[in-house]
Amino acid sequence: MTVFDRFGIPAIINATGTNTRLGGALMAPEVTAAMTEAASLSVEIPDLQAGASRVIARVTGAEAGIVTSGASAALLLGAAACLARLDPAAMNRLPTTTGRSLFIVMRGQRNMYDRAITVAGGCIQEVGIPDRYSGPGVRDADAWEIEAAITPDTAAICWLAQPQSLPPLPAVVRVAHAHGLPVLVDAAAQLPPAGNLRRFIDEGADLVVFSGGKAIGGPQASGILCGRRDLVSSALAQMLDLDLFPEYWRPPAEFAPLGQLPGLPHHGIGRSCKVGKEEVVGLLVALERFVATDPAAQRQTWLNRLRLITDGAGLAGTRIVDAPVPRLELPVPDPDALFAHLQTHAPPIHASLADRHRGVVTLSPIAISDDQARAIGAWLGRWAG
Ligand SMILES: *Cc1c(COP(=O)(O)O)cnc(C)c1O
Repeated sequence: MTVFDRFGIPAIINATGTNTRLGGALMAPEVTAAMTEAASLSVEIPDLQAGASRVIARVTGAEAGIVTSGASAALLLGAAACLARLDPAAMNRLPTTTGRSLFIVMRGQRNMYDRAITVAGGCIQEVGIPDRYSGPGVRDADAWEIEAAITPDTAAICWLAQPQSLPPLPAVVRVAHAHGLPVLVDAAAQLPPAGNLRRFIDEGADLVVFSGGKAIGGPQASGILCGRRDLVSSALAQMLDLDLFPEYWRPPAEFAPLGQLPGLPHHGIGRSCKVGKEEVVGLLVALERFVATDPAAQRQTWLNRLRLITDGAGLAGTRIVDAPVPRLELPVPDPDALFAHLQTHAPPIHASLADRHRGVVTLSPIAISDDQARAIGAWLGRWAG
């Protein structure tokens, strides 16, 4: 009997991917063991985040980093850092702002996760036109349009990391830095390849956000904010419980800029996305595992798992799509009917209908076991669609 059974909660087989709605990634036994161990120990959270910073700095090349309760939380904290910098009075005011509060976002990169910037107190200012109509005019935004939008009210420039994102990050960084502004990159789902852990920092980003509950295989409620030491330190100060006498405050060297504060902020804007010691160590163990894993071997594991599905399925036309995480496409006349069939399995199998408009049901190997892959194959084999 599982803990879900005990509480009458139906479990599922998640062949959709690391979607938050379906429980995110699965954690390796060494990750859960670290979380269990941390749960019965006490620690000062600044020391814990200093340890996290050392690991994150090593794997990303950033000056500093912290573990957050997710990429969305990291985006919120990163925005709060760009707004308040190292001013504790400004930290205490957020989400109310009195000075620079505009975040420039390419219109074609808008997404509902950017709400986290607004939650921190930022205002989004769109630039560019994602023109998909005019043929030769197809574009998103040019660097000069960003430059033209910068005013004394600009707090930062945002960039959504995706293979097709325009302008390229180095061009955005050039404009931002020429005006003394930070660049905040949302790279939540850009892993694998593991090389992306370093890439955006290498290209000059001041803050980069990753999700811990996706391909890294950390706790579902974990994420990473990494980048410039002053900004990461500001973010940490806005998440920490700093209810202590100021003379007792000794920030770890990893967050040295916090030693310069004229006073301590209290329960900042990030207090609502606090992260537990279990999530911090879970993320760190998962992150070390993620960077130590041979990409070719990992890929082979995923491909073998997809083959366990196709071997049992006996469906015509199935194809394995080559992507950072390979996936299986099942072309069928009625994707919703196949989806419904998968849901009748016990436990229900969840597949992706993201491509149903082109008659495809998609299966991901990342959040299932080999046994579950075999079960999916057998259940597909019973479908007479
Ligand atoms: C998944 C995702 C997020 C949120 O990540 P969490 O770790 O679940 O908070 C933010 N931005 C983008 C682009 C994402 O894909």
